[in-house]
Amino acid sequence: MGLEEYKGVFVFAQQVDNVLDGVAFELLGKGKELAKDLNTEVTAVLIGSGVKELADQLAEYGADRVIVVDDPQLKDYRTEPYAHALASVINEYKPEIMLVGATAIGRDLGPTVSARVKTGLTADCTMLEIGDFPLNAAAGQEQQHNQLLMTRPAFGGNTIATIACPYNRPQMATVRPGVMQKIAPIAGAKANVVEYNPGFTPNDRYVEILNIVKAVKNTANIMDAKILVSGGRGVGSKENFKLLEDLAEVLGGTVSCSRAVVENGWLPVDLQVGQTGKTVRPQIYFAIGISGAIQHVAGMEDSDLIVAINKDEDAPIFDVADYGLVGDLNKIVPALTTALKAE
Ligand code: FAD
Repeated sequence: MGLEEYKGVFVFAQQVDNVLDGVAFELLGKGKELAKDLNTEVTAVLIGSGVKELADQLAEYGADRVIVVDDPQLKDYRTEPYAHALASVINEYKPEIMLVGATAIGRDLGPTVSARVKTGLTADCTMLEIGDFPLNAAAGQEQQHNQLLMTRPAFGGNTIATIACPYNRPQMATVRPGVMQKIAPIAGAKANVVEYNPGFTPNDRYVEILNIVKAVKNTANIMDAKILVSGGRGVGSKENFKLLEDLAEVLGGTVSCSRAVVENGWLPVDLQVGQTGKTVRPQIYFAIGISGAIQHVAGMEDSDLIVAINKDEDAPIFDVADYGLVGDLNKIVPALTTALKAE
């Protein structure tokens, strides 16, 4: 079958306990853009048990069509039945592009499905666009148009790689949560809802879930915060984060941190910003005692306004900061908190 027979942009609409994950809306936003460039439609693939009513939400966030695979076996995520369901949808509907969120579920599901449908997968993408794939002209290869160009950090964030999949379909990518923009929902928008039954066999039941232990979340979601007061190794100790908490409190913000802080055991990993942490885009990002390593900057450079406080005037964080204060954070941060309180 020729590659040209594969049509449409598909996104995996991840849900847990019948609540859609935010990344599903982000993928729809990006999927819509890609579909416009390819003059095609966006389809959300919704897999679960009793999930059909979520289709309306997907339509409001841009899905033209929703393919629903609904079966009691799909109540909780397990690799085998989910991979069977998604691979069957791909084999049946033949999308040109298949996007999956790079969540814990997506990082398991995406590669399993790509191997099953015999195509490649670019993991953890931070940028996707339609463009020409520059093949090796010297070797007599023809340029391929309208390819999905998938960009991701590589070699520990030291380089940015753009990868294409010109010889197989679908072109598959997992996409970092928090990077793509969702569209403003259109109330009352409707999608064409199609129910698809891939058929399940006993082989789809390798894993039986005995118990689900939910992580106790006692930390705010830094991806939703409008103001982040982020601290690095320069803060010096777990106790000294009190300075940042006080500042965050007067600003109505949330505390986050660099990886060095997590490695020192000062704050939990939920609060880590960066390549191996979360990607954030608050209205204001305070980087306090953070040097500005490339892996940290990758997670916060799209913030609307960046304020850096560092005692080293050559710290790389000042290269991405809109405002920089050179000095000792132990003096600057309390002074800032007091001044803001007085306002
Ligand atoms: P440092 O680099 O040690 O910087 C501390 C800063 O504090 C310095 O600039 C110093 O001048 C300043 N300072 C010290 N005392 C004061 C004071 N009293 N007042 C003012 N300033 C002061 N890092 C992340 O953050 N997020 C990630 O997701 C991430 N992922 C990674 C993935 C890989 C594969 C690798 C290899 C690394 C990753 N890192 C990540 C680590 C990253 O390379 C850096 O090591 C880390 O970001 C450094 O944290 P920091 O800026 O807090 O500490």
